[in-house]
Amino acid sequence: MSKYKIQTICLHEGALEDPINKGAISPLYMSTAYQFNDVKEKRYPRYINTPNQEGVCKKIAALEGGEHALIFGSGMAAVTTSLMSHLNSGDHIIFFNDLYGGTRNLIKKEFSNYNISYSFAAGSSLDDFKACIKENTKGIYIESPSNPLLKIVDMEAISDLAKSNNLWTMIDNTFASPINQNPISFGIDLVIHSATKYLGGHSDISAGAVIASKKHIDKVYELAKNLGGTISEFSAWLLERSIKTLPIRVREQNKNALELSCFLERHPQISKVYYPGLVSHEDHEIAKKQMSGFGGMLSIEISSKIDPSLFLKNLKIVKPVMSLAGVESTANYPKLTSHFSLTQKERDDQGISDHLIRLSAGIESIEDLKNDIDNALKTSLHES
Ligand SMILES: *Cc1c(COP(=O)(O)O)cnc(C)c1O
Repeated sequence: MSKYKIQTICLHEGALEDPINKGAISPLYMSTAYQFNDVKEKRYPRYINTPNQEGVCKKIAALEGGEHALIFGSGMAAVTTSLMSHLNSGDHIIFFNDLYGGTRNLIKKEFSNYNISYSFAAGSSLDDFKACIKENTKGIYIESPSNPLLKIVDMEAISDLAKSNNLWTMIDNTFASPINQNPISFGIDLVIHSATKYLGGHSDISAGAVIASKKHIDKVYELAKNLGGTISEFSAWLLERSIKTLPIRVREQNKNALELSCFLERHPQISKVYYPGLVSHEDHEIAKKQMSGFGGMLSIEISSKIDPSLFLKNLKIVKPVMSLAGVESTANYPKLTSHFSLTQKERDDQGISDHLIRLSAGIESIEDLKNDIDNALKTSLHES
């Protein structure tokens, strides 16, 4: 446990000293080859123990209140390595039904090759998860808030259920970021981040992280060395630099997302807004219990009178991009991007309609953001 508060952790935890030049920031060590004589620990990038990698791991572990962290070259490397290190042939796992598209793809395409079976909980209630438990179930994997519908799962309830059935729990905490939600404090065992998103925050690095107790991290680490989803030294260095501003970025993103949600909820061309900070959100009370801020992500259902592709094209500030969580506001069309590989039926079952747009609030002026979206809606009516 770090003795510092979160803003101080972001700045100083895991920072490397510059003993030669006494510079103020962590030096970047690009070396991939380190002497092995006279040292207990052999340093090598794939072992996730080079100086810059170790520094970031320390910072991220402290941010989530975990004993240890490992970093990877992408969020999916963190997801894959965490899952596969905790599952063996013949095991069964329970997933929440609203998942990042890449994770769902991994499950659908690969799990049967490894003789791992799975169930998707029908909803977010405890009974939905309970109903899926089998004799060979080993763990529960959730996202909260989820992608793209911002559904909320009660972490404490899931963790209690898991513990009483001798199961481990994993959460993809990417959407919340460690500023808004710390799942370990609710009993979740392993916390995963696509650090490409909020932790990086500037849309310029690809990275992933997992945070857990030593017992769980040791398991992930053994597989990580063999799978090799290694992060580059430069990305590790940039990640450490980026996390310094995480609390102030996320606070602004929370604020803009909440204001946008309230504005769009009243907009005549918007039929529904999904944002856990809205009183109208079906799990607002659970979100209030477990989140200290409601995040920068929201999704909107635009009127069927609006052409979604034209709407995205007519946005001037909000950029239509594949990713999210940068300081710049972005929009995404799940049907054509993150959830493209799903069948129409799978999208329908998940509630991902053809008029669903996901927004990632940046840190621009809220007035400019409101005007940009309002103008794009007004100029994107279907010709009829
Ligand atoms: C982007 C994302 C991932 C995958 O991360 P990559 O860095 O793209 O590999 C996993 N989960 C969530 C919720 C994401 O948004």
